[in-house]
This record gives sequence, structure tokens and C-alpha cells, in this order.
Amino acid sequence: MKIKITAFFTIFLLLPCFMTAAVACPPPYCGDCYWWHNGGCECRPAHCCSDSDCSPCFYGCEDCTCQPCKCWDTGDPIEKDGGLIVDDEVTLCGEKQFWADYDDYDHWTAGGASEDYPEDLLLFYWYQTLSGNPEYGTWDNSHNYNNINWQAPPCIGSVRIKDVVDDEPDEMDLTCPGTGNTRNDSPTSDEKTTTVILPEGCEHAGPHDTSIHWPHPDDDYPSPTATPFGSFSFDAATYDVDFKYDNCSWVCEISDVNAKTTILVRDPATWPGHVSVSQASDVPCDDALLAKYDLTDNDLFDDHGAPRTKYWSYAATVAHEEKHRSDWKYYYTAPLTIAIVGADSISVEINCSEPTTTNCSSVESAWYNVIKSYFDEAWEDALRAFDDPDTELDEAEMWAYMISASIEGPIAADLPGGCSP
Ligand SMILES: [Zn+2]
Repeated sequence: MKIKITAFFTIFLLLPCFMTAAVACPPPYCGDCYWWHNGGCECRPAHCCSDSDCSPCFYGCEDCTCQPCKCWDTGDPIEKDGGLIVDDEVTLCGEKQFWADYDDYDHWTAGGASEDYPEDLLLFYWYQTLSGNPEYGTWDNSHNYNNINWQAPPCIGSVRIKDVVDDEPDEMDLTCPGTGNTRNDSPTSDEKTTTVILPEGCEHAGPHDTSIHWPHPDDDYPSPTATPFGSFSFDAATYDVDFKYDNCSWVCEISDVNAKTTILVRDPATWPGHVSVSQASDVPCDDALLAKYDLTDNDLFDDHGAPRTKYWSYAATVAHEEKHRSDWKYYYTAPLTIAIVGADSISVEINCSEPTTTNCSSVESAWYNVIKSYFDEAWEDALRAFDDPDTELDEAEMWAYMISASIEGPIAADLPGGCSP
């Protein structure tokens, strides 16, 4: 019997609570503005006759019952989820995507009875400030998105990129009095530096050597093989072209200008049948008349020299070829300088919408022919000055033979006397 009585009381005491299963009997706390309805064994909203009976945690009075409202927690700010924009580098006119990763979950409770964590819509605003760069980059204006495509400016230097994120709260119905704005969180932001750098292989403009060099590595005198007498040859100048960065532009830098010339003069010691003399006494008297004939230039204003059938002057030939060289340098220097100065003043503004201007090497390719034409023109001008093509006379030879004659002539003048018996 004792066992049956125990079973009866257990069933009797638990039965009402099985019928209102959601709330423990009684709960430790029903929540603000709710009261424990012992008969129903539940938390109930307050009874009311008007809205003023239902404060602060009720929306208003309906059907003599305070309607529950949503009380929003404070302190659920917009949260950064990581990633985001970072300090970075990008080449000028380079494209870059910035990504802002945020979320905003808020929380409300309605008394002790219900709760939710709705997510707010986020609005994104993007800003750039100059930090050493003279120009801004360009956006695609999709300012309400969490990612944005940015094209760097055509200049190097830093730009600060900033995102500002703000929430646009929704579902603000049934808000508890005095808590209506708590869901509207303060904006948050992040700001980083993007450094705009030069494309790979491009450099800053600066001092450079634009002078003309006149190398003559292949000079050979006295030469065992040069024939006849001597020769002078000259090459079109070689030069380096580089486009370097300067203030949002590429400027042309001409350097290493080399105008090569070469002189060959026959070595008198290795030329059978020809005799180089430097004074009348070098000539045997048997040959004095021949030597006088050989060393006499009868017309200084034509482009032929002395006959030199047997006797010649090594020193006169060297002077002749050196005269060619000094004349050529004189006539080539002026137009070549114009070409160098002209090319060196080319400046190409970097324009991000014109891809050929965004890299030093593509600018160099684009301007190759223009610069070459400057130097070609200098070459043509110098050739015309050196020997006017509109005259039959070879002016270069005329001037050089005058120099030859200034050395050969005095020897010839001392002959046939002054020869060695
Ligand atoms: Zn000559």
C-alpha cells in the first residue's frame, strides 16, 4: 500500500505543469513587465485599460492586454570580419579591388518570451585621401558595395583608402519606448595606405650624360695592311634611349652617345715599292725629280692630292686623315647635338586610359621611330656639310689634301736640291 500512495501524489503534483510545457513552474524570472500567472502557470503580459498602463516594455494596450514590444540590446556594434583593405602596393594606373568584410547582427527580446538576432543591411562608403601622391585614383562609383574596383593614379606616391560602413536598420516595428534608436549602430571605418609604385624595370629620371663621345678603338697606324696610303671612316652615332619617370610623365633620356671614327695609315716599313720621306735629304739624288713630282699637289682646290707614285709622306697622310676626323667631328657635332637635345626634351604624360603611356618600355617603343628620325637627320645634315652632294667636288678631300700639301709641299720645294747624293 505504501508504494501506491507515493505514486498517486507524484502524478497529482506534476499534471498542471505538463499542460503548459514551455515555462518551468514557476520560472525564476518572467522578464520585465511580465507577471507570473500562477493559475495558468505561465508568464503573461500585463492587464491594461489604456496605453499608459503599458510602459516601458509594452508597445501599447490592446484587448485589455499589454502587447509585448521588442527591446533592443545596446552594444551590438557593426563588426569587422577580417580581411578588409590592407597596406599594399600597386603600379601606377594599376587596378586593385578593395574588399570590406563586415556584418551587423542585433538582438531583441520581447519580455522573457521571445528573442531574435536580425541582421542589418550595411551601406559602404569609400574615400581616398592623398598622402604624397599628387593625384587621386578612379573608382567605378559602386559606393554602396562592400568591394570596389580602383584604378591607381598615373603618378607615384601614397593614397589612403578608407571605407566607412554604416547600418540601415530595418524591422523596427514594436520597438520598446526609449529604445528605438539602439539598433542604429554608429558607423565604423578602416583606412589603409596604398603605395603607387613604378612598373617593373622603370626608373626615376635624373642627371645623365648627354655628351658626345668620339671613340676610335679601331685606329691602326702605322698599319701593315692599310692600302693605299690611309683611310678615314666614320659611323652613325649610337645612343641609348630610356624613358624615365618624372612627375606623372615619362621623359626621354639620351645617353652614351658614341660617334665612332677610324683612321688607318699604311706602315711605310712594310710597303715595298713605296718610300715615305719626311725631308728632302731622305731622297736619293737619282730620284730627286721623281720625288719632287710625287710630292707636289698642283691644284690645292681640287679633290686630288700629289701623285705619290713612289715617294710619299707618312706624316702628311696621318695629318690628312686627322683633318678628315676633325672636320667630321666639327660637322657632325652641331646636328647631333640638336638631335640629342630634341630627343632629350620629349616628355610623355602618363594617361591611364592610354595603355601605351603607362609603361616606360611601351613609351620607348612608341617613340623609337621619332627619335631615330632625329638622329638620321643629324647624320644626313653632317654628311651634306662634310661633302656637299650638289657639287662634283669632294670638299672633304680638298680640305684634307690641303693639309697633306702643307707637309709634302715644303719637302718638294727643297728638291731636287737638298737630296742625298
Ligand atoms: Zn682623304
